Amino acid sequence: MKIAICPGSFDPVTKGHLDVIKRASKLFDKVIVVVMQNVRKKDSNSFTVEERLDFIKRCTCDIGNVETDSYVGLLADYAREKNAAAIVKGLRAVSDFEDEFQQSLTNMRLNPDVETVFITAKSEYMFLSSSVVKQVAGYGGEVDDFIPAQIIDEVNKRLNHK
Ligand code: ADP
Repeated sequence: MKIAICPGSFDPVTKGHLDVIKRASKLFDKVIVVVMQNVRKKDSNSFTVEERLDFIKRCTCDIGNVETDSYVGLLADYAREKNAAAIVKGLRAVSDFEDEFQQSLTNMRLNPDVETVFITAKSEYMFLSSSVVKQVAGYGGEVDDFIPAQIIDEVNKRLNHK
């Protein structure tokens, strides 16, 4: 069974993330979406890990081969624990590339058994990130085009400070 992991902060999950997860689910037998609890980014998160996991679960419940999880530690170790064949990352633009390339080479060194696979972002989601959602929602802007319908009310309630 070919297992892929889709790691990220997902603070919150966006339509761009979801598109990558869906496309990965067609390529692999099982996809584990894992909320990485990045110690460095911890204080800047708007949603708890439990909330982020709940959002992802609600938006992926119609995809049979997707599971969710969270992890504190090295992605290379997590991949080994799960016996994953691939780490799937979405690539939006050249700006993502350098950092992703560095992470991919590091993971290759730490765990040579896992390949990093890049999925090109859909053109309509090229600009989209969780930070964009937070900025727009924070000022009362409409985020319906950016995040899945299942989570809009909760995201607005938390982020709209107007
Ligand atoms: P963000 O950059 O939005 O904070 P994460 O750290 O949660 O996102 O990213 C998890 C993964 O999803 C990364 O591989 C990232 O490149 C990818 N990703 C994020 N937004 C998009 C998007 N709009 N389209 C495709 N991939 C994306």
